[in-house]
Amino acid sequence: MRSTMIHPATELRHVNETIGYGTLNLQEDFVCACPSPKCRQIIRTDDMERHAAAWDAVVEPIFRSVQASPQPLWLFLREQEVVEQALANRTPYRSIHLNYRPRAGVTHP
Ligand SMILES: [Zn+2]
Repeated sequence: MRSTMIHPATELRHVNETIGYGTLNLQEDFVCACPSPKCRQIIRTDDMERHAAAWDAVVEPIFRSVQASPQPLWLFLREQEVVEQALANRTPYRSIHLNYRPRAGVTHP
């Protein structure tokens, strides 16, 4: 349990700064021009391969706290039962890596 409360917007900004574009199954690497001091500078098509575990460590606690505050968009979520099962620990947390679609034939040194 946390000893310090962090505002949800702060947590979301942290997620965006630390994960951001790396989850978008990019077609090419690019140099990021965002002002975040936490920016990785070069966003690579295979960032998911290297960072998924660290990103899960950031996202899972936020996911687990979703029921602690009102979710006005809940009605629009198609996978409500899947989320409820995971929140109740009846199914495992699904890694962000499951969203990764690597480009065929692309490797980085
Ligand atoms: Zn950036």
